[in-house]
Amino acid sequence: MRLNTPVSAIRLDAQGGLAVLAPAGTLHAEHVILAVPPAMDRIDFGDMLSSDLVRLARATPVWMGADPDVLHVQNWSAEQWTSPSTVQHLADYSLLGHILYQRPALDGRLHWASTETAVDHAGHIEGALAAGKRAAHAVLATPGALNSRSVTTPTTSR
Ligand SMILES: Cc1cc2nc3c(=O)[nH]c(=O)nc-3n(C[C@H](O)[C@H](O)[C@H](O)COP(=O)(O)OP(=O)(O)OC[C@H]3O[C@@H](n4cnc5c(N)ncnc54)[C@H](O)[C@@H]3O)c2cc1C
Repeated sequence: MRLNTPVSAIRLDAQGGLAVLAPAGTLHAEHVILAVPPAMDRIDFGDMLSSDLVRLARATPVWMGADPDVLHVQNWSAEQWTSPSTVQHLADYSLLGHILYQRPALDGRLHWASTETAVDHAGHIEGALAAGKRAAHAVLATPGALNSRSVTTPTTSR
C-alpha cells in the first residue's frame, strides 16, 4: 500500500501488462483494480479505452453530486481525490453498475471496483465492498494470477 501516491496515468506496457504512473515512479502490474469513481478525470488512459467506455465513465454520477445548500464541515464534492471535476453535472443514475464495468478492460487487466460500478447498493459502502470483491475474483480467476511478475516496482522516478 502506498499513501500520498496519486496515480496520474495507466498504460499498456511492453511486457503485456499495465504500467501505473505516479509521481514517485512507475509500477508494473498484470492487473490493476481501479477503485475510484469512473468519471475521475485525473487518471490519463491515453486513447486505450473504447469510446463507449470513455463516454460511460465520463457520464457516470458519483453519489455526492448533489448541490448542497449549506456546508457544515466539508464539501466532499470539491475533494480532489474523491470527486471528479464534473461531479455536479453527473445525474444519470441508470449508469451506476453498468454492464461495461462488470467486465475488465485493457485486455482483461483493468478492473473497475468503485461503488459506482456495483450492480447493487451503488453509492454506498455495500456497493464498494461488492465491487471490490467482484474485481478481486476476476483477477484471481485469471490464469497465472498472482505469479511473481504480478507487481514490480522499478526505482526510476518521473
Ligand atoms: C461524508 C460521507 C458520508 C457517507 N456516509 C455513508 C453512509 O452513511 N453509508 C454508506 O453506505 N455510504 C456512505 N458514504 C459513501 C461511502 O463513503 C462511499 O460509497 C464509499 O467510500 C465508496 O468507496 P470506494 O472505494 O468506491 O471509493 P472511495 O472511498 O472514494 O475511495 C477511492 C480512493 O481512491 C483514491 N484516489 C482517487 N484518485 C486516485 C489516484 N489518481 N491515485 C491514487 N488514489 C486515488 C482516493 O483518495 C480514495 O482514497 C459516505 C460518504 C461521505 C463522503
